[in-house]
Amino acid sequence: MSPRKYNLETELVLSKSTDQYNASVAPLYQSATFKQPSLSNMGEYDYTRSGNPTRTHLQNHIAKIMRANHAFAVTSGMGCLDVITRLLSPGDEVIAGDDLYGGTHRLLTYLNNKGDLKVHHYDTTNTELLVSKIHSGTKMIFLESPTNPLIKVCDVRTITREAHKINPDIVVVFDNTMMSPVLMTPLDFGVDIQYESATKYLNGHHDIMAGVLATRSAALAEKIYYVINSTGCGLSPFDSWLLSRGLRTLAVRVERQQQNCVRIAEFLANIGFKVRYPGIKSHPQYDLHASMCKGAGAVLSFETGSIKVSEKIVESTEIFGIAVSFGCVNSLISMPCKMSHASIDAKTREERDFPEDLIRLCIGIENCDDLIDDLTRALLRSGAVKLNERDELFNAVSVQSKL
Ligand SMILES: *Cc1c(COP(=O)(O)O)cnc(C)c1O
Repeated sequence: MSPRKYNLETELVLSKSTDQYNASVAPLYQSATFKQPSLSNMGEYDYTRSGNPTRTHLQNHIAKIMRANHAFAVTSGMGCLDVITRLLSPGDEVIAGDDLYGGTHRLLTYLNNKGDLKVHHYDTTNTELLVSKIHSGTKMIFLESPTNPLIKVCDVRTITREAHKINPDIVVVFDNTMMSPVLMTPLDFGVDIQYESATKYLNGHHDIMAGVLATRSAALAEKIYYVINSTGCGLSPFDSWLLSRGLRTLAVRVERQQQNCVRIAEFLANIGFKVRYPGIKSHPQYDLHASMCKGAGAVLSFETGSIKVSEKIVESTEIFGIAVSFGCVNSLISMPCKMSHASIDAKTREERDFPEDLIRLCIGIENCDDLIDDLTRALLRSGAVKLNERDELFNAVSVQSKL
């Protein structure tokens, strides 16, 4: 199944506008309502909550690049998850990874604590364990790969296949924010619903919040549309228009970001830091990741061995901005425990072996030499690395802790 006619890079920039003036960019319909030709002859659109031509244009484009039959754009990545969880019924049992995005963890925990859902978290890297927990009453499975910042990879193909064997009606939900459609097509692995925070790579400029959902199932699409129209979380026309613009450069951005990230991962690993990135051979699931994705993406994390040193590094960079999120054209640095993952309590973080000194780097499209120089200065300033007599960088913290 492939609604795509050309390669992704081509589909991303190809614009088939049906505009009356042949505008080369699909116009922005900044209108809440649409007049009807007559009472007996209603037009295609009536009210923007239900549908808007700018959003439709975006959704058709998204469906193509995600190889889906149906796609929807909503106001944020978390908005996608809200729509998806509304497809469940009170008391339904669901299985979720134990290292999902912090906001995903927060919403699932909220629904679990209210008694709306029974959520079971498992380590998704343990395929055998995860599959053994799926039973005929399991209604939904939430997966993410690679997770961040721990960069855990799960076997999406096997989990999805085994889940559907146990119960063909299980809805397997996959959060593809980290890879984007450039690097992964989860629907090809049998996933029922794929969603992404379009705030990240899809838009790529950190100037809007958005989320997209995609599926090949007409039945699921109908339910998803029903919720979006009922709750009014469809993406606004202006944000849809901006997201369409951002999408056109998705392939070149991700390619360049990844190229930079591979170099930076190697740079840090060579100094002796424990680097988590599925693009370097030391990653425990390097082969599994490569079997599912066209690349390793542009997010990595590394440990310094000291919370204090990590804090100093994060505060010493100049090009890397201290910010949550990723997928933007500019590079970012953060300490997940203090920022994006602070919503997971310290005890749970400890249970999940979440290193408190972990630094996350989200790599942009800048000149890579500049990025490495910036990191080098920050590492030296923080005392994390020192120069030896041959002017080579070495990991001072790990040397110290070995003494
Ligand atoms: C950011 C993010 C989300 C949430 O998306 P928002 O657009 O911020 O609501 C969900 N999953 C992952 C993996 C993310 O990185």
